[in-house]
Amino acid sequence: MVYRNLKGVRLISELKFIVDHNVGKLAKWLRIMGYNTLFFSSRNDSNMIATALAEGRVILTRDTQIMKRRVITNGKLKSILIQSDNPELQMHQVIDTLNLDCLFRPFTICLECNQPLVMSNKQEVKDLVPPYVFQTQSQYVECPACHRIYWRGTHWQAMTKKLGKFVKI
Ligand SMILES: [Zn+2]
Repeated sequence: MVYRNLKGVRLISELKFIVDHNVGKLAKWLRIMGYNTLFFSSRNDSNMIATALAEGRVILTRDTQIMKRRVITNGKLKSILIQSDNPELQMHQVIDTLNLDCLFRPFTICLECNQPLVMSNKQEVKDLVPPYVFQTQSQYVECPACHRIYWRGTHWQAMTKKLGKFVKI
């Protein structure tokens, strides 16, 4: 992703997000695409804005009050006011507005805790996954924080199909 910093210098950097409690479903989809996305469950707007500023995150929210904050109106902090109630339309808005790459780094981040996943050795996961999965899957990734193990099963395929749908539009 190429964008400009406050001095207008072109930066090639990674987009990071902070998702407000009112558009929580966006967090999962952005993580599936590989974008570092913090889900902000508290209703304390000031804390959310402070975190977004400190960590260079784009705010996604349905709260019109947040859009009136000075750091946002003066362009210091980027925030997108999500228009729809529908999570799929919400994703389309974010993808269109930021020209997001839906296949940025799919399935590289833990969907639960936003940590980058690491490759796991097949033997290491032997006792941690169902026997059928162990027999049929050879590649595994693990979250270093919650130790959840991911593999390319049916759930993965369903999500890939949905990502593909976002890409087309
Ligand atoms: Zn995790």
